[in-house]
Amino acid sequence: MAQLLKGKDIAVSMHHEIKIAARKLIKQYNRAPLLCVIQAGEYHGSTLYMELQKKTAQSLSLGYRVEKFPKTVKKEKLYEVIQELNNDKTVNGIMLQLPLPGQMNANELRHHIRPEKDVEGVHPENLGKIILDKEGFAPCTACAVMKLLRSTKIHLYGKEAVVIGHSEIVGKPLSLMLMNALCTVTVCHIATGKRGILPEHVKRAEILVVAVGKHNLIKGEWIKEGAVVIDVGINCVGGKVAGDVEFETAQKRASFITPVPGGVGPVTVAVLMENLVKAAKKQMQGDY
Ligand code: NAD
Repeated sequence: MAQLLKGKDIAVSMHHEIKIAARKLIKQYNRAPLLCVIQAGEYHGSTLYMELQKKTAQSLSLGYRVEKFPKTVKKEKLYEVIQELNNDKTVNGIMLQLPLPGQMNANELRHHIRPEKDVEGVHPENLGKIILDKEGFAPCTACAVMKLLRSTKIHLYGKEAVVIGHSEIVGKPLSLMLMNALCTVTVCHIATGKRGILPEHVKRAEILVVAVGKHNLIKGEWIKEGAVVIDVGINCVGGKVAGDVEFETAQKRASFITPVPGGVGPVTVAVLMENLVKAAKKQMQGDY
């Protein structure tokens, strides 16, 4: 029976460190690190997520501010706001809350955020640093998965890692991070699923990360005996949150498995806060 990889526990110990670092900065520079979130339009899921961010930030002595706009806002206005926040010395981290209204392109906007304030790790400069294995801000969820994997103390070197999902914020950056850790990485996506060959890839995986958003896409019987399984997926099933992996059966075969909820999610939020403190420290010290 797999050991549960409880993201909540990892988040709690990260919170402890973040709080100490934040208080140090407040003492030294007389102000708290400040995260500014741009929200255009109001969507139930994102509002809930922002409430969680705010609560977490406040509990860690971090500042949290929302720049809220109606869904009719023009992208030119949002460019202007990003510029203002880029130049505002009291703002240390900038985040663009998704989804955006209509046809607005998130990447076009996010690429205007100053890389030093891009605490979500979505600017091309930060994404490029992953290829070079250089320090920067990598996407929070991908970092969270790496933290969960490292918490198992399993050596990643040479392991067969299979990542299912190739999005810009999870699958793609994570596959590079696993490659940097010298895993042998396979990336599966919609076309792999359509060819019907997901099972044969999953069966080889010593490390399996699933980030798709389809409940029970991955059958427990496909899981290799002893595999580490990280389920990033979030699905609403009968009013409850559930992942992409068939949990009950997978748990019997895996060595470690993340629960959903309570796995990747809490660590992702903690990474965002950790990045904010890191950004604030560099900015307050005048490193850029
Ligand atoms: P996305 O929609 O951008 O990408 C989905 C990926 O799944 C794509 O690469 C697509 O090719 C692949 N895919 C779709 N159907 C498939 C199939 N049948 N077989 C194989 N691959 C298939 O999603 P995303 O933003 O990467 O998010 C993925 C999931 O992770 C969602 O459920 C999302 O809510 C969740 N998520 C969780 C966190 C967290 O902190 N826990 C953070 C981000 C995303």
